[in-house]
Amino acid sequence: MQRQLPFPKHDGPARVAIVGAGFGGLALGIRLQSAGIATTIIEARDKPGGRAYAWERDGFTFDAGPTVITDPACLRELWSLSNSDMAADVTLMPVMPFYRLNWPDGTNFDYSNDERALRGAIADLDPRDVDGYDRFLAYSAGVYAEGYEKLGHVAFLDFASMVRAAPALARYQAWRSVYSMVSSFVRNEKLREALSFHTLLVGGNPMNTSAIYALIHKLEKDGGVWFAKGGTHALVRGMVAHFERLGGTMRLGDRVAEIETLGDQVTGVRTANGWRGDFDAVACNGDIVHSYRDLLSQSARGRQMGARLERKRFSPSLFLVHFGIMGDLPEIPHHMILFGPRYRELLADIYDHGVLAADFSLYLHHPTASDPNMAPPGCSTFYALAPVPHLGKLAVDWEEIAPIYAERILAEIERRLIPDLRSRIMTKFYYTPKDFSHDLAAYLGSAFSLEPILTQSAWFRVHNRDDKIPNLYFVGAGTHPGAGIPGVVGSAKATAKLMIDDLVG
Ligand SMILES: Cc1cc2nc3c(=O)[nH]c(=O)nc-3n(C[C@H](O)[C@H](O)[C@H](O)COP(=O)(O)OP(=O)(O)OC[C@H]3O[C@@H](n4cnc5c(N)ncnc54)[C@H](O)[C@@H]3O)c2cc1C
Repeated sequence: MQRQLPFPKHDGPARVAIVGAGFGGLALGIRLQSAGIATTIIEARDKPGGRAYAWERDGFTFDAGPTVITDPACLRELWSLSNSDMAADVTLMPVMPFYRLNWPDGTNFDYSNDERALRGAIADLDPRDVDGYDRFLAYSAGVYAEGYEKLGHVAFLDFASMVRAAPALARYQAWRSVYSMVSSFVRNEKLREALSFHTLLVGGNPMNTSAIYALIHKLEKDGGVWFAKGGTHALVRGMVAHFERLGGTMRLGDRVAEIETLGDQVTGVRTANGWRGDFDAVACNGDIVHSYRDLLSQSARGRQMGARLERKRFSPSLFLVHFGIMGDLPEIPHHMILFGPRYRELLADIYDHGVLAADFSLYLHHPTASDPNMAPPGCSTFYALAPVPHLGKLAVDWEEIAPIYAERILAEIERRLIPDLRSRIMTKFYYTPKDFSHDLAAYLGSAFSLEPILTQSAWFRVHNRDDKIPNLYFVGAGTHPGAGIPGVVGSAKATAKLMIDDLVG
């Protein structure tokens, strides 16, 4: 049913502003523009992409954030809406193995959708777990069909929508954690880690993130793991080119300072540079606390929601060290996880105790394994990422700690993987929780917004359309279904459906 909005009060197509050019904002912009809605994306930073920002340093190309592209079909759909072909703007390359997992005792486990190789690797860990893996796969396929294919791109606006999902949640024991569910199928501890760590990629602790997130295994198995030629930011640039070709407008380097309201309606936006525009509807892609508390501070709804959201549980932050080194390292695959000596206890330090532990689990990104052009000839680009407590749990001076922490991470990689690493470094820099907070207005410097626990998922997450302001919408990691590229692109599909129904009918 079309909702009665006071707009458009003008001739011509409906006009929409999207605050923020993250993957969610860009995907929403493409969908709206494809439906004939005149869309302006306003981005605070000098480049689009949000967490998927990028830097060029000394001839090396560094992606800031996402590197593992899954479910490429959800991206291709953004082009096929207007009968265009994504391949004209972006080249996706398959990555194999998906990840190499490594433990301190030297064990390697190559994780991929090559069934024979994967079963062989599982049998090497514990032959008794091959059957258990098959049962886990069947479970993962079930939650994928229910949780992702059916519900991953529809808005949960009322409690009734949650009630409708309840039987499936019960059937798949959604109250259990991913780790607990995985442990019911396989007994080898390394395999339990290998089949449960994925929630960390969307900000969730495997020990208390709902077992529905086990769907990631099936998502990767069916859709593969991909990398954009030139880096993830090349995908971002491709999305911007497509959006602009469709007639959309980008405003970069202009932070929105206020979303203007009149009564219970949004009327336009005003930026820090003094620009303002009237819009029929506004969608927020930035941080959810920032959007309500800061951009809507003049409205009672903004203040109320801001205060309410501040009390929620937020995902941890991340510490990243980016480095470019001399030499090709073809033996190091594109994606590696270097598990530490502790798993459950380390996660508790990060999520619960707010401790910057002496040990860490690292994700190592080596993009030149797929695209050597991301470094000067004969050189390699890397980043190493460690989950760390967010700023609300750990109050340290990151400027002081960053160089020390980075050295410890580099020493660990040197010890386990690249013996002469530090003598090869040509360029290096860090990215800390403070940077997430400063550059992205991320509440507490959280890298993934609201923690994806069951009581903060679906209807319990920020709604894709505000309950009280009918022409205010949300898209991105803080909304349903949540963080990660497929998640935020799914949220854009849910939000676009609402907006198109509301504005076009
Ligand atoms: C280091 C890292 C690695 C990751 N790895 C992966 C991965 O491999 N695979 C994967 O699928 N996911 C990964 N993720 C998660 C994924 O990157 C994010 O969930 C996703 O990109 C978030 O997109 P978003 O649409 O919510 O917007 P964001 O990326 O958060 O962008 C929001 C944008 O809004 C802008 N903004 C905020 N306030 C304002 C304002 N007032 N005015 C104007 N603009 C504003 C910000 O500048 C920003 O550009 C990773 C995340 C991080 C941090």
